[in-house]
Amino acid sequence: MSLDHTHVQTRLVHAGSPELKNGAGPVNVPVVRTSTVRFADTATQAALNTLRASGDRVATYGRHGLDTHQALEAAVTSLEGGYRTVLAPSGLAAITLVLLATLEPGDHALVADSVYSPVRKVDKSLLRRYGIEVEYFSPARDALERLIRPNTRLLYLESPSSLLFEVLDLPALAATARRHGVLVAADNTWSGGLYYQPLALGANISIQAATKYLAGHSDVMMGVVTVDSAALAQKIGQTYDALGLSVGADDAYLTLRGLRTLDVRLARHQDNALAVARYLARHEDVARVFHPALEQDPGHALWRRDFSGASGLVSFAFGNPDPTAASRFIDALRYFSIGASWGGYESLALEAAPERLAEHSIWRQGPGQQSVVRLHIGLEHPQDLIGDLEHAFAATRDALRRSA
Ligand SMILES: *Cc1c(COP(=O)(O)O)cnc(C)c1O
Repeated sequence: MSLDHTHVQTRLVHAGSPELKNGAGPVNVPVVRTSTVRFADTATQAALNTLRASGDRVATYGRHGLDTHQALEAAVTSLEGGYRTVLAPSGLAAITLVLLATLEPGDHALVADSVYSPVRKVDKSLLRRYGIEVEYFSPARDALERLIRPNTRLLYLESPSSLLFEVLDLPALAATARRHGVLVAADNTWSGGLYYQPLALGANISIQAATKYLAGHSDVMMGVVTVDSAALAQKIGQTYDALGLSVGADDAYLTLRGLRTLDVRLARHQDNALAVARYLARHEDVARVFHPALEQDPGHALWRRDFSGASGLVSFAFGNPDPTAASRFIDALRYFSIGASWGGYESLALEAAPERLAEHSIWRQGPGQQSVVRLHIGLEHPQDLIGDLEHAFAATRDALRRSA
């Protein structure tokens, strides 16, 4: 079945579907687990090993992943509009894989200062030891052109950024990087790949924590790396092999199962989050709301230009500078679970750690004081969620008044 020229919703449903054998078969690809791959004869084994060495997506051992993995890879490649997708055991492993595959000792990488914070740990604990220099910059304020050095190999971005959802001008940044022969990698977790196409906007590599919206049910760890060329696929494949990475077939299956319903889930996350963001923007206890689909968000114009939708993430800063406001508020919530990660069907609340906010230049230049709560808006009814938030605001106000 050709999926060329179809809409993304159709591709999400059909990409990677198994061929029928003897005229019948399952709808979704089954879980194919293996360690040993067995061959019909030694000539076939040799031929497949040769194909693999030349960069073809051929499995000659369990670590490479068989049918279930290949089906998920095909579906994500179709979603991201890329050449090929490599799976990784987590979103962070996908990021580390890209950094190790594209950077060598003596290289310099430019990283947006608003990126998912654990990227800085990869830098400190790993890249530095291998003589790779990472420089953090503000994509909004610093002129990228002037930061690029002869040894700059990689521009690493995330748009919208973690915690404050700063929207970056990826087409402009990527065009500058490409002029200087610098590779561009973008973390695309926020949009689930459905509402944003980094590869079409100039990136060479798009990464997602499939743990979030692709799997979508808070029960799987998975990372995906989609590249725009055979050369990059080979480079990343070699590093994957060298690191001995492997992804379980059951986890690949659950991610593929989640991906089939990505469009309907994200549409509801988007609607609910916009309702909550509008409610928060009107609330007297809120100083500022961070959500690019809100008309007053500074990233709104770029978001409208480059994105076709928004996710379920909304952050807000309290007007009251009391540093305990966020924790009191979160403890008063009933339907929001307290936890990191996001992208499942359920609502979550998390206080943004002040030291993580301080990494963002847009935060340092702004109010920079109040506590910030990040919400992931799930698939509950938005009126129930807003009622819960209203109750928590009242409880927080009372508690702060009593402790004043
Ligand atoms: C969660 C997250 C990651 C890491 O994914 P894990 O699967 O939790 O390792 C990477 N980038 C972003 C933007 C994330 O939100």
